[in-house]
This record gives sequence, C-alpha cells and structure tokens, in this order.
Amino acid sequence: MVVAYIGLGSNLEDPLDQVQRAFDELDSLASTRLLKRSSLYQSRAIGPEQPDYINAVAQLETNLAPLELLDALQTIEQTHRRVRLQHWGPRTLDLDLLLYNNETIQHPRLSVPHPYLTQRGFVLYPLADLDPNLHFPDGKSLQALLKQCPFEGLVRLPENRQPA
Ligand code: ATP
Ligand code: CA
Ligand code: CA
Repeated sequence: MVVAYIGLGSNLEDPLDQVQRAFDELDSLASTRLLKRSSLYQSRAIGPEQPDYINAVAQLETNLAPLELLDALQTIEQTHRRVRLQHWGPRTLDLDLLLYNNETIQHPRLSVPHPYLTQRGFVLYPLADLDPNLHFPDGKSLQALLKQCPFEGLVRLPENRQPA
C-alpha cells in the first residue's frame, strides 16, 4: 500500500457537488481507500478569464500503480463530462496526481510530484490540512513552501459548507 495525494478542482456545473462526488468516487476505486479529505477552498482561476474554482486535496491509500491511478483519475473526470477546449480553461472536474509515496516519476503521461505543486496555494494549503509535516521527494518541507506562497486569492470555506 502507498499513500497518494490527489488535487481536486472544479469551476463548472455546481463545483461543490462535483468535488464532493469526486471524493466518494476516489474512495470507491479498486484497491484504494480515501484516508482523509481536506477542507474546501475557493480560489481565483489561473489562465483565461473564468469562474472561481473549488479546490481540495484527497489523501488515498492505494495498491494501484501510478499509471493505473492516473487512468482511474481520468476515467472519473470523463464521468463528470469534462471537456478539454482550452489550456487551463474552465472544467467540471480536474484530478491531478500530486504525490505518490515519496516517488519521483518522469513519464510522457505523468510527472510526479505534479510540476506546479510547489507554486500553487490552492494545493499547498489543503495539503497542509492533511499532513502539515509533509516533505517532498527532493527533501523540501511543505512548511517552507507555504512561507513562500501567500494565502492571497484563497478562501477557506466555512464549516457548514465543508463535506460531511
Ligand atoms: P496543470 O497540469 O497545469 O494542472 P491541467 O490540470 O489543466 O493543467 P490537464 O489538461 O488536466 O492539465 O492534463 C494534461 C495532461 O497532463 C494529462 O493528459 C496527463 O497525462 C498529464 N499529466 C502529467 N502529470 C500529471 C499528474 N501528476 N497528474 C495528472 N495529469 C498529469
Ligand atoms: Ca490541474
Ligand atoms: Ca489535470
């Protein structure tokens, strides 16, 4: 069993519901269990002008190999009728494989840790909800990265809008 972290994002067709359902779908994957879900955050979009995002991170325990897990994430995105029209454009659901154990993976379909992980507050702050002492495969600590990444543009949603 390995521990993997998945970044969830949505800014179309009831984003809160998209993200809540995605947590349950991750928990239902073969050979996989959802250990923890972060709080939900609202963030400003990067890329083209579009609605704000709902973001969160899931901590999984899985026996799936990295590419099997990526396939499973892309299948879930498809069941949410994700359509790719524009780079960094709006989407019903985005699932990124952020971390897979302490592994570094360079494959044409998969880079782990996720390449932009260290620069994105909407990923780093929810990761800190799950494990504030996390370290990356290069030895950097999550806490050190958070110090360089302002909370600016992020809103942690109040408890009554958090997953049950
Ligand atoms: P960003 O990567 O900047 O977050 P994005 O999420 O909008 O952008 P997508 O269109 O969802 O990008 O994905 C493009 C491709 O990225 C996927 O087809 C997938 O093969 C590849 N990819 C590489 N590394 C990862 C990863 N760690 N998690 C998810 N997809 C990845
Ligand atoms: Ca993404
Ligand atoms: Ca993606």
